[in-house]
Amino acid sequence: MKKQVAILGATGSIGDSTLAVIAANPERYDVVGLSGHSRLDKLLDLCRKFKPRYVCVPDTAATDFAQQLQAAGLRVEVLAGDAGLIELASHDTVDTVVAAIVGAAGLPSTLAAANHGKTILLANKEALVMAGALMIRAAQASGARLLPIDSEHNAIFQCLPPAVQTERAAIHAPSHGIKRLWLTASGGPFLQHSYADMQAASVAQAVKHPNWSMGQKISVDSATMMNKGLELIEASFLFDMPVTQIDVVLHPQSIIHSMVEYSDGSVLAQLGTPDMRTPIAHALAYPDRIDSGVTSLDLFALSQLTFLRPDLEKFRCLALAYDAMQAGSAACIALNASNEVAVAAFLAEKIRLTDIARINETVLQQTPTNAVEDLAAILAVDEQARTYAKTAVKALA
Ligand code: NAD
Ligand code: MG
Repeated sequence: MKKQVAILGATGSIGDSTLAVIAANPERYDVVGLSGHSRLDKLLDLCRKFKPRYVCVPDTAATDFAQQLQAAGLRVEVLAGDAGLIELASHDTVDTVVAAIVGAAGLPSTLAAANHGKTILLANKEALVMAGALMIRAAQASGARLLPIDSEHNAIFQCLPPAVQTERAAIHAPSHGIKRLWLTASGGPFLQHSYADMQAASVAQAVKHPNWSMGQKISVDSATMMNKGLELIEASFLFDMPVTQIDVVLHPQSIIHSMVEYSDGSVLAQLGTPDMRTPIAHALAYPDRIDSGVTSLDLFALSQLTFLRPDLEKFRCLALAYDAMQAGSAACIALNASNEVAVAAFLAEKIRLTDIARINETVLQQTPTNAVEDLAAILAVDEQARTYAKTAVKALA
């Protein structure tokens, strides 16, 4: 039976990689739904190519997009806005939801998929950072399966014992002889540069990742290492592992995608050419294996694999993530929200790259350290943190 797939955030970088894997394996997948927020011309092309039954666009674009579909002779039902994303993520005709919207905007639809028992291919790490406990509980209650496609978490998942992988939602790593998770990090474009270089970095320099081609927000997050901070929180929720047992190691070649250390001293790693089609193909086909189109890893061409300890002064955002996770869920929500505001301000050339950490730290200092667990309360903390962050941006701009 073909898997019935909805891709939320289909016009982005993860959307591209997912549709490339699906296009290479048409006998296994039906594209039931697609969503896009901007670049709707691209979304229209995707509708031509993949002929989904549903498409979701912003409220303001729905009427116009429906006309364009009609003019193109395409019979696709148009859903709109946040309600449309939730409808698509929970639709009866969908069994697999690719959560590939960037940022907090992806939370309500990802949570809807978790509430409706879907298989969720999770790229939208921000949803777990904001609502990890809620997401895991929802998935456990509905029988939804969370399959990480963030490359590090997918690598860790692949290094877990098969019996543990089949635990449907959260995996309590410490009770399976797992001593430590090792998250690898490339270090981004400024690994070999000074803090002063980072301070003077242009947007173009910051989004130019050495090994991966990704959307703008995650590229900036990689340059500040906030991405690794968000991934630390993501891993802690996905694998039910205290952050004190998750270490970040810099590995500039991005060949080892992460590792699991067992109590007997074994360390299992997943390696591959850095290409998101590999984790996406793994999760799409799980537990089978399919062709992803990725070039084989050429071990003879690799001169060396190197490892370094991250500099937490230079990459302050990573230290803030450890602090936030220890402070409680309100701090994680606030860190994520503040970071989104700060990254947008950097991309708009209002602040410097290094101001992102300063703003995030200021917002964390203003946020209470309580646990926040229902969606309304989560969104309220998110909103408050955005207000604090906007004030901090103004003070620096
Ligand atoms: P992107 O910017 O390339 O694409 C984002 C997608 O989300 C687009 O389809 C866009 O239209 C949609 N979108 C943006 N704002 C929206 C909103 N307010 N409402 C609804 N839809 C909206 O981003 P990306 O690089 O593909 O990343 C997507 C997610 O995957 C992020 O959470 C990112 O952290 C994660 N991720 C990405 C990569 C990667 O290689 N790109 C790797 C690991 C994890
Ligand atoms: Mg990653």
